Amino acid sequence: MFRIIKKSLKIGVVTGQYRRAEKPALPIIQEAKDKTKLFKRSLAIREVDTGSCNACEMEMNALLNPVYDAERFGIHIAASPRHADALVVTGPVTVNMERALKDVHKQTPDPKIVIALGDCAIDCGMFKNSYAVTGPVERHIPVDIRIPGCPPRPAEILEALSELRKPTV
Ligand code: SF4
Repeated sequence: MFRIIKKSLKIGVVTGQYRRAEKPALPIIQEAKDKTKLFKRSLAIREVDTGSCNACEMEMNALLNPVYDAERFGIHIAASPRHADALVVTGPVTVNMERALKDVHKQTPDPKIVIALGDCAIDCGMFKNSYAVTGPVERHIPVDIRIPGCPPRPAEILEALSELRKPTV
């Protein structure tokens, strides 16, 4: 235990020292910002993996580690779509996940926003033309925000989410 305390004192606080995204966050469309006004700058997110390689998820999960610590900005992961404000969808929509995606979308209360995370969710990425893929996310449910990348870095995801939470003037 003393070894751990000593190490923590030596390293110091790592939260907030992450490198900012090199690419600027995508412009967030005004309609999505208008919808999030009701959320009062907090955002409960439900993740849905519709057939990704898991790398996008891992980057999304990294938002909750001590370096990015997205919860300090009011962004947290909801345990059920019924408690979520936003759906973050990763991967192309596979045949097996098409119905599940539509069900989750239906279960999420309005107003809600849908974020397509990663190239696969936006346009099927490297899985384009696969026999197991039925299309990108927006072919099945309306998408409000797209965060490109293969996978997008946590800093890019965080910047896009923070932009969404900024009050509109
Ligand atoms: S965008 Fe890249 S990292 Fe994300 S699911 Fe597709 S292949 Fe994997």
